[in-house]
Amino acid sequence: MSAYASATVAAVSTDSEAACAQPLPVLGRDVTVPLVTGGEVTYAALDYAASAPALQRVWDDIAAYAPYYGSVHRGAGYLSQLSTDLFEKSRRTVAGFLGCRADDQVVFTRSTTDSLNLLAAALPAGCEVYVFETEHHAALLPWRAARVNILDAPRTPAAAVATLESALAGRDTSVPALVCVTGASNVTGELWPVQELAAAAHAHGARIVLDAAQLAPHHPVDVTGLDVDWVAFSGHKLYAPFGSGVLAGRSDWLLDSEPYLAGGGASRRVTRREDGGVDVDWHTTTARHEAGSPNVIGVYAIASACTALKEAGFDTLVAREQALVARVRAGLAEVPEVKVLSLFGDDAPRVGVLSFVVEGWNSSHFAAALSAEYGIGVRDGLFCAHPLVRTLLDNDPQEQGECGAPEAEPGERSLNAIRVSFGAGTPEEHVDRFVGAVKELVRDGARWNYRTEDGRCVPAPC
Ligand code: PLP
Repeated sequence: MSAYASATVAAVSTDSEAACAQPLPVLGRDVTVPLVTGGEVTYAALDYAASAPALQRVWDDIAAYAPYYGSVHRGAGYLSQLSTDLFEKSRRTVAGFLGCRADDQVVFTRSTTDSLNLLAAALPAGCEVYVFETEHHAALLPWRAARVNILDAPRTPAAAVATLESALAGRDTSVPALVCVTGASNVTGELWPVQELAAAAHAHGARIVLDAAQLAPHHPVDVTGLDVDWVAFSGHKLYAPFGSGVLAGRSDWLLDSEPYLAGGGASRRVTRREDGGVDVDWHTTTARHEAGSPNVIGVYAIASACTALKEAGFDTLVAREQALVARVRAGLAEVPEVKVLSLFGDDAPRVGVLSFVVEGWNSSHFAAALSAEYGIGVRDGLFCAHPLVRTLLDNDPQEQGECGAPEAEPGERSLNAIRVSFGAGTPEEHVDRFVGAVKELVRDGARWNYRTEDGRCVPAPC
């Protein structure tokens, strides 16, 4: 187990004070939703892995800044200056949050998907890419222009390192190469041995990018300590849902490549040539990849969330979340019909993301009943990680529907899974209600009729 993973486990087992800590205030914590069976209940948002609720602190910071909102990097006016300062200060806040090296770049993007596509567009000529089949599609698919090596799903963290080692062994180290790996799976929540994978990549002359979309909201990320070359994450999973993301890391590939988007902001000087065309002198800083008017609200929201998580004490948040993970796992373990999906086994360290199937239930039907009868929001489907979920469910690829789509009428065999995910804003009552609802549904069945409508399982009208 990596030092990284064992640090998580150690925090869980020792910090009982943290386990009693309160959830961080988030927007929507008092929202009530109607139940199909009558009455209303406070909504239990248990789909953090898709998008986490905004921290109240982020919302308050944005509201305080909103009257001062202005153009970034463009205007001579006071509010433009202030907004530019805030934008650049946010870059430094994010660099600090990620433990970046002094010469790393922090590029603001729209999301993790955008960040990894940006890096894919910046790969040096002839670059080889190594990626496990278990990755989220955002990490599996952007490398189409490169020579991609897809690695089989490993069944232990050690096997992941061994698989990468053997894939890289004997490669020509003069050829550039990139390994792309997730920090925490969006399906199983399991932590990957990032530090060891980085060491293996570097030993064979390859670079490594960490997909921290599911790690950063749940666990401190230390770019320097992990020795990864780049890291990508999304604001909306880190309690900052305003359409921003981050790619941070080494400057060379980023600054040697063509701008990701061509336009104002990325260009330093544009001149008309005699032959009628234009010559462009592109920026040699992060601005090179940030063409167009930047999303200052989204960027400030990310910085605010980073600050809030740090100030709350990330170790405390990790310990509290681990107590919730243990509670959910213990509850589900009491239901023999529930099978929790896992690549690395029961003892693997994990974040607050769990997927499962229920014997005799279609997952879409089960998720619809959790919502309609208990006010619990989870996700069902293949979670944009089709190869991984198919491996875990031992399913035939031909049988699968599209990402997120339910595949059958209620009552038929399930071809997809249910995912429950939570984090810093989750009260204990939400996970307890979830476990209670799972037990009740398995024991008593749904109290309502459901049907498939437009590819989704929904409550049937009375
Ligand atoms: N990587 C992982 C592990 C994810 O879970 C997700 C989204 O669920 C992504 C990448 C893509 O994130 P986004 O949709 O914000 O681009």
